[in-house]
Amino acid sequence: MLTKEQVLEMVEKENIEFIRVEFLDYAGVTRGRTVRLGQLKDALEKGINFSTAIMSFDVFDEYIPNPTYGPNDGDFFAVPDPSTFAILPYRKNTARMLCDLVDVNGDPWPGCPRSALKRLLNEVESLLGGKMFMAFEQEAYLLKEVDGQLVPADRSHCFSIEGADIQEDFIHRFVHSLEAMGVQTEQISSEYGPGQLEVNLKYAAALKAADDQVTFMHLFKHIARDQGMVGTLMPKPFKHLAGSGLHVHISLYDHARDNLFEDPTDQRGLDMSEKAYHFIGGLLKHAPSLIAIGAPSINSYKRMQPGSWAPAHVCYGAGNRSVLVRIPEKRRSRRFEYRGADGTCNPYLLAACLVAAGLDGIQNRIDPGEPADFDVSKLNEQQLKERGIGWVPRSLSQAIDYLAEDTILAETIGRSIWEEFIKIKRTEWDKYSRYVSDWERAVFTSRF
Ligand code: GLU
Ligand code: MG
Ligand code: MG
Repeated sequence: MLTKEQVLEMVEKENIEFIRVEFLDYAGVTRGRTVRLGQLKDALEKGINFSTAIMSFDVFDEYIPNPTYGPNDGDFFAVPDPSTFAILPYRKNTARMLCDLVDVNGDPWPGCPRSALKRLLNEVESLLGGKMFMAFEQEAYLLKEVDGQLVPADRSHCFSIEGADIQEDFIHRFVHSLEAMGVQTEQISSEYGPGQLEVNLKYAAALKAADDQVTFMHLFKHIARDQGMVGTLMPKPFKHLAGSGLHVHISLYDHARDNLFEDPTDQRGLDMSEKAYHFIGGLLKHAPSLIAIGAPSINSYKRMQPGSWAPAHVCYGAGNRSVLVRIPEKRRSRRFEYRGADGTCNPYLLAACLVAAGLDGIQNRIDPGEPADFDVSKLNEQQLKERGIGWVPRSLSQAIDYLAEDTILAETIGRSIWEEFIKIKRTEWDKYSRYVSDWERAVFTSRF
């Protein structure tokens, strides 16, 4: 972890000329400016100013100034966090730093997602008696353009070594670049879809894990582009092919590195502690609004279909991939996997809301009920009802309605982020609702 002074020494030593100061907007898009070397000291002290309006672009924004803001709505200042300093491996004279956003007085700006996560993590350490760790597992497609259409870049099959061979150049460069930027990787697999990969990042303290996901998002797209492909984290790029999820493994360790989610005397035989079950209880209680944060795009809801291995129902289970919260097999260290997010989310907001939901579960001793040890997608409505299992929200609109009722998540991310997030996501839904697709036109004009 570098200090400000070490960053200033490092840029001199490494002949860095350009420093990108970056942060994520509410929709999860990385934004920022590039500062020249001579400006870095000032940027580290005071931050770089931006109009508050740039946090609130919706995904269909049409390159015009944001109509919900006036030109006089004020600025925030992006202050680079020295611990995130990394030299871009593909452009050695350029470094990037992730930022916390402050107001004109230098106090944390209430609109900063990264600060919201930091604030919560600081509180949680004493409340839970340990530190939250996360590991992000992102799936993503490599595509190529053929006759003006984007199609998978190869025809590799799930876990096939052929898939690893075909994309070896990409994989090696991607993994080396991540590691050069301080992100440790664990495993790489060719996933279900042709051209679909999964790269597992090593678990890290929750803030670093979210920072690492930002690095992943950027490098995956950049390296694919550099190799003549399109890399995408889009949740469901093709109707008939597997979607791309973002699974988050969550664990809690105390200062002696004891796993607080583990208990070999567990009555249910899963070696999970009471704290772990209550945390899961909180995730299930807040599931409908967590889905709005973790799966925040119109396309997200096309991924979460029954039988797709993406969660369609709110329940948990051991070694079961049809559930929202999966407890991995006992041979692995005790933790659980939240499967309800995708690469269109803001990972800071996601991490903060997962922790807040879990904390609510622990503080209020919320029992998650019995784990589902069956394929939930095979149950009919009656059977779901008997087992008390609900659907995840079926659309962005429905999920946002749940989020609008969730005061615990609102307090976690702060009222101003919560309100802005709901506003831009309602705009996204509204634009989508008005859109008439070729598919729709073809079907309706032939039938009516
Ligand atoms: N592709 C699935 C998803 O969208 C997950 C498949 C897996 O378990 O790796 O979440
Ligand atoms: Mg996977
Ligand atoms: Mg997984």
